[in-house]
Amino acid sequence: MKAHLLTIGDELLIGQTENTNAAWLGRRLSDLGVEVKRTVTVGDNPDTMRAELERAVRQADFVVMTGGLGPTHDDVTREVLAETFDAPLRTDDEIMDRIRRYYEQRGHQMPPSAPQLAQVPEGFATLDNPVGAAVGLWYDASDDGCVVAVLPGIPEELKGIFNGSVEPRLEARPHLRAVTHRTLVTSGIGESSLQERLGDLSDLLDDELSLAYLPSTSGVRLRLTAANEDSTAAEQRIDQLTERIRARAGEHVIGTGDVTLEEVLAEQLRAADRTIGSAESATGGLIGHRLTGISGSSDYYEGSVVAYANRVKQTVLGVDPELLDEYGAVSEPVAVKMAAGVREALGVDVGIATTGIAGPTGGTEEKPVGTVWLGYADDVRTRAVRRQFVEDRTLNKQLFATAALDLARRELERHGDAEDWVPR
Ligand code: ATP
Repeated sequence: MKAHLLTIGDELLIGQTENTNAAWLGRRLSDLGVEVKRTVTVGDNPDTMRAELERAVRQADFVVMTGGLGPTHDDVTREVLAETFDAPLRTDDEIMDRIRRYYEQRGHQMPPSAPQLAQVPEGFATLDNPVGAAVGLWYDASDDGCVVAVLPGIPEELKGIFNGSVEPRLEARPHLRAVTHRTLVTSGIGESSLQERLGDLSDLLDDELSLAYLPSTSGVRLRLTAANEDSTAAEQRIDQLTERIRARAGEHVIGTGDVTLEEVLAEQLRAADRTIGSAESATGGLIGHRLTGISGSSDYYEGSVVAYANRVKQTVLGVDPELLDEYGAVSEPVAVKMAAGVREALGVDVGIATTGIAGPTGGTEEKPVGTVWLGYADDVRTRAVRRQFVEDRTLNKQLFATAALDLARRELERHGDAEDWVPR
């Protein structure tokens, strides 16, 4: 089923209101197996609206119009529908009663313009609005091979009517393709490196199977979508693609759905019966914040030392002043010593550390903005890795924290179960 969206309102054209309805509808419709082929935004001008509506009805199987259903003079959607479909407006008594009750229950005087909301073009069905006064409209323009749904512009009303009335009607219609989604959560790899690792997937991807990269500062999510008239076939194709991704980037795939890096790390620490603490320079406590975002984290997270000044790195974490002089604070030996130092200072099993240049100032040719050294220390090993991120300070802090958490995840994975640990 091919759909066109027609979003209406001058405020959308001038950017005063962000067109969140188009995004929301696009997502919901594709989840339902409807292919959204076109989205158009027009102002409150009846001629333009009519021209676009006629075009949409000609070209699509399903048209969703939003906005301009209210009672004010610039709300002309009803009139446009009446003209386009040659369907005179009539007052729907039941809706009129409901509108009266709506205002009575709220103790408000019914505005003189309110009866407009009860005007329904001949042949249109109405769709209940669970949150507001304006009803939605539904028109089976079978002669034109098209169905039209008309929804108010207020996002909450639109969502209420869509979920309550449009979705069930769509699901009752044939020709919807079964759509299956799966999200693979990756960690420790950026979008372009991940794309390189996955290589050419064109033998698997086509109109019915797609892959989207959803990057954020906590990792890249891969959204796999398969659409097919047969849901088992859609599922099989998703499995095939998942297998390929795991084969090529397996160590970076940490789970599916909504799972987070912090949750994966929490499971590892619990399984190994170990505690963790962080020594944070560039991240300023963000790692502690991220770890304590998980309920029950006190089982394995003991605390953090925010060691921003070199003096604190020396006095609390025991970093040798000579190391700082010789290599600088953002360096491998300092990251290692910070991780080992916090392990000692807090009496935890695993110490992780960050020391980096978040920017925008402080970069040099050798250590540009975005450079970070991440430290790791446990009972048998210490190590540090250098990573290079971006130029934005806020992003860098987040990316440094994610990278440090990912380093801990990977080290713990290598290290294995509780039995492998040397007791403190
Ligand atoms: P109502 O029946 O309440 O008057 P309506 O159908 O007339 O709603 P509009 O008057 O066009 O809709 O818009 C109502 C509100 O919804 C306005 O605040 C508008 O900015 C917002 N809105 C309209 N269209 C969109 C959209 N596409 N995305 C997000 N918000 C929107």
